[in-house]
Amino acid sequence: DKASERPTHIAYVSEQDGFDANWQLSLLASLDQAIAKEQIYLAFQPQTRLDDGAIVGVEALVRWRHPERGVISPSQFIPQIERAGRLKPLTAHTLRLGARAAQKTGPHDIRVSVNVSATIISDDDFVAFVQENIKAGGGHPGWITIEITETARIPSIERASRNLLALQRLGYHVALDDFGTGEANLSLLVSLPCDELKIDRSFVVLAQHSERARMVISGLSRTTHLAGMRLIAEGIETDEDREMLLNLGCEMGQGYLLGKPQFLPQFLQLLTAVVDTPDRKLSLY
Ligand code: C2E
Ligand code: MG
Ligand code: MG
Ligand code: MG
Repeated sequence: DKASERPTHIAYVSEQDGFDANWQLSLLASLDQAIAKEQIYLAFQPQTRLDDGAIVGVEALVRWRHPERGVISPSQFIPQIERAGRLKPLTAHTLRLGARAAQKTGPHDIRVSVNVSATIISDDDFVAFVQENIKAGGGHPGWITIEITETARIPSIERASRNLLALQRLGYHVALDDFGTGEANLSLLVSLPCDELKIDRSFVVLAQHSERARMVISGLSRTTHLAGMRLIAEGIETDEDREMLLNLGCEMGQGYLLGKPQFLPQFLQLLTAVVDTPDRKLSLY
């Protein structure tokens, strides 16, 4: 069994494994059962300060442990579920699981970041939907960050803004995911209420070779800080990545160098080991 996440996705199902239309239909048909049987679960990846490795948060990433196919990654079932109009039940489940995890992490002043696809954030009932499921999971708004993914696909910026503002007033934080991919653009940064901006891994990779990309990150650092927001970089794999980002003014990050996505008990073990130290620092550096 998968004791911890591999640094690559090789363990996951690939197209060649017969990931065909029939298989996708059977996935959809088994969604409710998979939720009920807890085959759909969350992996938790630490978010740390880049200077000293202190844990500042944790992102919850959904996984599907299929009885025949093993662990399937979200990019291989979220799109199908969305096309079938089943995203809400799945999100209800991840919000509840995130809230349940936050019962353990919240008291340590660490927020759980739950990914939510932008396609549902303009819904009239979105605020009530989030509240209901966070409460059902025993969570508290002050322990949760709503991380908006697929940001290019917000049905209505106006309604989304209203909803996100309402969530902020209730105590939630809002994060914009995948910034710099063309998905998440500058006008969204201007118009959406948010507390945190996440620089996509592809932009971090680009920055290693592009002076212009480095200038953009440095500019984003100033912009987000002036706006009172946090900036966090994804996909930090090497110490060079970490140092470059620090030098550009990005103070937080996640990635395999800082911690892999892991089962909740393992993350909690790490957290309690670390909170016992004076500054809640990982012993990475
Ligand atoms: P994301 O939110 O940008 O998540 C980051 C992805 O990068 C995760 O893949 C994570 O495992 C991976 N990753 C973390 N550190 C590193 C690193 O150092 N190097 C590399 N190469 N990759 C790293 P994952 O878990 O397969 O998730 C993929 C995407 O699926 C997520 O991208 C997010 O957009 C979506 N997703 C995940 N969980 C959920 C969910 O609960 N609901 C929705 N709607 N979407 C989700
Ligand atoms: Mg994310
Ligand atoms: Mg991301
Ligand atoms: Mg990303």
